[in-house]
Amino acid sequence: MWLKQNLLKPILDFIFPPVCLLCQKIIDDGDAKICTECWNSFTIVDETHPDYMVLKNRFISGGVIKDFTSSFLFEKEGKFQEAIHLLKYKGIKSVGLKLGLVLGEKINQNSFGTIDIVAPVPLHKLKLRERGYNQTDYICKGISQSTEYIAIFDLITRLKYTQSQTALTFQQRKENVSDAFVLNDKYKDLIRDKVVLLVDDVITTGATIEAVGRVLKSAGAKNVFTTSAGLAKGDGV
Ligand SMILES: [Zn+2]
Repeated sequence: MWLKQNLLKPILDFIFPPVCLLCQKIIDDGDAKICTECWNSFTIVDETHPDYMVLKNRFISGGVIKDFTSSFLFEKEGKFQEAIHLLKYKGIKSVGLKLGLVLGEKINQNSFGTIDIVAPVPLHKLKLRERGYNQTDYICKGISQSTEYIAIFDLITRLKYTQSQTALTFQQRKENVSDAFVLNDKYKDLIRDKVVLLVDDVITTGATIEAVGRVLKSAGAKNVFTTSAGLAKGDGV
């Protein structure tokens, strides 16, 4: 079987050459799914980006999230949005892994200090059943691989099934996600005095992350840091 697959792959690649899923250009490494040019076209969010600064200041003044970093700007109709759609709706999980590796490298460079646990924002079980996977798990895996932080995928449970929050203001989002999360019972001793890095795919107002962070802090976590692959411009302040 192994031999058969290894002989078959170059033949199939020759007949159906792998293409970048964003620009349709032929790529050498079919496993990459997105070509280098497309990756390089994503707008990088650095520490001086105005949208980043707004969100970071909001987190810091909220007193739950200690610090925050993100990789790329999530712009409507942009290529990065398409990449997130591949991960979220088309099952292209390798995009999540790569996004996590990129974030992990960034975190390694501007260290948050000691991190004990890295954990994704969970999906509600109905959404998980519908989608089949939590896209943020793959970003989390990539971060864990590159930073060697221990990932716990079921640290938190989402109790409330929340509809898309895109049309809501910050205040409405905050109410929408309050009491939406709980700590998984089996980690209630482990979490005490730990430093947790919470991971999300795209952060807009930060209301969801703060709700999760609050659960962790009240369970005794020492500090909660946050990271996301994408940063969307928040509309409701
Ligand atoms: Zn491309």
